[in-house]
Amino acid sequence: MGNMISIAKTIVENSEQSTIYATDGDLSLNAASLVKLKSTDKIIYDKYKAPEKKEKQLKKFLVHFRRPAGYMGEYGFDWIRDEYIHALYFIERDNNSHACMSTLPLASDVAAVKATYLKDVKNPVKPYGKDYYPAWLSIFPHTNSRQFKHGSDMNKNGAQLDLELEEIEEVVSDGTTLIFESKNPHLKITPQEINIAALMGSGKQTRFLPNGVKVKYYTLKGAVNVVNKDAPLQNHEEIKVFAKLGDKKEEVGKLMVYLNNVIPKMELALVKVSHQGSSITTIDQQHVKDFEYQFKRNSFNQALIRAELKTDTSFDISTLPLIDKDVTSCLDNLYSVKKVFDPHQYLQDVIRLYEKYGEHKPTGGSIDGDANKRTYIFLSDIGAGNLYGTTSGQGDLANEFEWGNAYMIFQKGLGDRATLLHEAGHSLGLQHTFSAGDPLSGLPAPPYTFFQGHTDNIMDYTWQTNGNRNPFVAKDNLRSFFKFQWDIMRKDRSLILNY
Ligand SMILES: [Zn+2]
Repeated sequence: MGNMISIAKTIVENSEQSTIYATDGDLSLNAASLVKLKSTDKIIYDKYKAPEKKEKQLKKFLVHFRRPAGYMGEYGFDWIRDEYIHALYFIERDNNSHACMSTLPLASDVAAVKATYLKDVKNPVKPYGKDYYPAWLSIFPHTNSRQFKHGSDMNKNGAQLDLELEEIEEVVSDGTTLIFESKNPHLKITPQEINIAALMGSGKQTRFLPNGVKVKYYTLKGAVNVVNKDAPLQNHEEIKVFAKLGDKKEEVGKLMVYLNNVIPKMELALVKVSHQGSSITTIDQQHVKDFEYQFKRNSFNQALIRAELKTDTSFDISTLPLIDKDVTSCLDNLYSVKKVFDPHQYLQDVIRLYEKYGEHKPTGGSIDGDANKRTYIFLSDIGAGNLYGTTSGQGDLANEFEWGNAYMIFQKGLGDRATLLHEAGHSLGLQHTFSAGDPLSGLPAPPYTFFQGHTDNIMDYTWQTNGNRNPFVAKDNLRSFFKFQWDIMRKDRSLILNY
């Protein structure tokens, strides 16, 4: 190629073989975008008339934001997975353990799932008439305390997300760019533009939906970074994705970012309950630190809740006065050879005793009372059969359903991250993902349920009703709270808003 000359809004390149002409907007000088002239063609610039330019068609596709594979729960990210709304899994037994033997969507009500993910989306899009469900991201604003009282550096590096380009028709590397637009100056996405060639470089992949439908797509890992700096988001915000080619521009995707102008605080009191001959006091400090890390940075942060471990203390039941009937009935449950140990009763007994004798008992009121703003986690090294943990409270008709503010982890669950977080999820008002509610006891019926043991949700179980393991357990990937759960947890009565 010879020298590049820029004339007005055109670029002309000379070479021995040909002169290449490109109009404004074709800055990439891709082969496909060029018009070749023979070198013998004499070009008189001021009289030159551009050859009839073949209009380039913007290829049809959708763009989705996705969570990277190494996700640990360090921010909230939720989207409709294919298997929630398409019949992709063979279900042997339903949630009541009845034979099912059909291939079904994991969610009980597909329309309700779709409606849930569109809730709070102010400007829904239907690119090329296709239904589109944005993914939801939740990140803490990175601010100092002057900019925002509850400022945090929790997500100062933002979230590094994958991008997926889903073909509606076959795309080609024609210089089409993706443009990301955020109207909020405090919500930034980088880069702001990506050539689709970068996504195509990853190679086309195919996944299958029912009835032989193929989804052809490209994924660029860690393609974009989304960060919220200097001021919190007062509303749910959106980042729009446009596909642009020449002067053609179409909105082809969207990321919703959850508002974060209120950061509720969740205070946790960790109490190691020991009794005669118990070894529970030997739980080491590293374990406790790990607990706090899990609460603070790998789970409840997804709902933009700041978890704080307030106290780390021991409570030895064997030192309590035996003239107290509550003490003797607790010990009776523990040691009586005539009775089978009742773990739920044990938690109730420990709560009652802790309210009387505990070092960090709630001031003015009971643990499960409305005034208490602390969630008590009692750790016990007692074996309770297959039970990992249990939660206080049975529901409350007057105030819809609310669990109590305490739970106990038994021996089997002590080393188990998922159990610790799962029980705390109950104490923040979450049901199991597979629970159909129980209106008679105050449990509202959720809009939809999942088949047990098939999701990566912290409120799912680690096994399926047919006895198989939840597939996410093997990689320790039960790490998600879904967007509708963020909404529920953030309203829990035990959270502290003024601090
Ligand atoms: Zn549970």
